[in-house]
Amino acid sequence: MEEVKYVDLGLQYASLREQILSKFDEISKRGHYIGGEELISFEKNFADYCGTNYAIGVANGTDALFLSLYALGVGEGDEVITAPNSFVATAGAIAATGAKPVFVDVRDDYNINPDLIESRITRKTKAIIPVHLTGRVADMDPIIEIADSNKLYIIEDAAQAVGATYKDLKAGLFGDTGCFSLHPLKNLHVHGDGGVITTNSKYFYDKLTSLRNHGLRDRDTCSRWGFNSRLDNIQAAIADIKLQHLDVWNARHREIADMYREGLKEFVKVPTEEEHEKPVYHIFVIETDERKDLVDHLSSRGIETKIHYPTPIHMQPAAASLTKWNFPITEGQSEKILTLPIYPELTDSKVESVIEGVRSFYELR
Ligand SMILES: *Cc1c(COP(=O)(O)O)cnc(C)c1O
Repeated sequence: MEEVKYVDLGLQYASLREQILSKFDEISKRGHYIGGEELISFEKNFADYCGTNYAIGVANGTDALFLSLYALGVGEGDEVITAPNSFVATAGAIAATGAKPVFVDVRDDYNINPDLIESRITRKTKAIIPVHLTGRVADMDPIIEIADSNKLYIIEDAAQAVGATYKDLKAGLFGDTGCFSLHPLKNLHVHGDGGVITTNSKYFYDKLTSLRNHGLRDRDTCSRWGFNSRLDNIQAAIADIKLQHLDVWNARHREIADMYREGLKEFVKVPTEEEHEKPVYHIFVIETDERKDLVDHLSSRGIETKIHYPTPIHMQPAAASLTKWNFPITEGQSEKILTLPIYPELTDSKVESVIEGVRSFYELR
């Protein structure tokens, strides 16, 4: 029986310490902290990785969503459709533009249910933000069909899904833009905050590049009012170093997920996988009717867990003024979901400890 922390970011740092420190030293000696060669290199490599024409580094994943909506002209009086079970940032970014978040319930896979989208489309609807929750790409074929036939934009919230594929295409490739977070808890992360937007459109690339930097065309010419939402060179350099390891790390996430699935399927609900997809298990979510007791049992054995997320967005105080719909699937899941530790550095024996922890809980009953 081993203790298992929910995260341990120091382990990843230890494995790349020399490389990161030498880059830090190099950039610091040069004193070129913003908008330099490291950012350009990371943007090119990230776009190549996702298979998109462009990538734009920004300050965080929330800004990636906000700037995408803003660049598409979404604002006051508009509606944007998304899922109610995401991290609050998705709805927050919509609200920040002045538009109204309109929620659609999810399916068993925790992603937006395409069958329910059309009934929520009005003349005010401008865009759909599917969230690739847990690192599993939403069912994009029907979503793209609905968006096309209703002339809506698609912005992917791919914050949890860097590297995940759907029909052999990577997250970030399906929407008008794809939005990624480089937050320390994401599969690809920097040492602080960071984000990336992907797009195939030269028009949106130019607009977003300008918007993240005060709307400046050159040093002294402001062609539109913009924002300060840049990814600095040190963070970009760290992201670039880590991007080279991402496939190996994601493969390890998938390996751990397989171990959990096999070890736990007879006791709790575990995530399934279809032929056409390769989720990256940003988080590994089980469902249990005895969540509180299971959490206490695991915690007494030194095993940390979390809940993503205990309160759906439409039930948050901030959402009080939004239209009240019922989201039975989201609400039902929110009472049962539990996230187990999953990160590349987690050893097989620690994964076994978690499995043993859950099994012992059910075998005691
Ligand atoms: C992390 C996350 C965000 C926000 O990213 P930040 O970089 O923290 O701003 C948005 N949406 C989802 C689904 C996330 O998991």
